[in-house]
Amino acid sequence: MTLMAGIVLAGGMPAEAAERHAAPCPASGRVTQDFGPAPSGFHYGLDIANAAGSPIKAGLAGKVSSSGSSGALGQFIVVTHSDATKTVYGHLRKRSVGVGTAVNGSTKIGEMGATGTSDGRARLHLEVIDGERVNPRLKYNCPR
Ligand SMILES: [Zn+2]
Repeated sequence: MTLMAGIVLAGGMPAEAAERHAAPCPASGRVTQDFGPAPSGFHYGLDIANAAGSPIKAGLAGKVSSSGSSGALGQFIVVTHSDATKTVYGHLRKRSVGVGTAVNGSTKIGEMGATGTSDGRARLHLEVIDGERVNPRLKYNCPR
């Protein structure tokens, strides 16, 4: 990774250091699709698969700024953090917190599901929005 050492992100923090400071992954399970090019088009999030009903945690503290249902994301929650970045949690089976709820990293915000665009297998679609959608691994220490 010597070549990576010189690459600095917009935030001024080297990529490797950013990952070392990452928060716990909001779900445990297996990453089935990373952020980046995918057969169906660029994937703007990180997919983590596990059994339906597995707990989804906030991962980072913040306040629930949106909670609802959309065609693609299914049941989703959005948490806005103190640095104004947002995390989107999609395909939930159940939402456990409402808009305005203050959460910390370990707060359970919902249950993993297969709502929205789905092949029927439960997974979390995790997005991080920092002006634009960025790689969630910059914020969360999720499995490789
Ligand atoms: Zn996804």
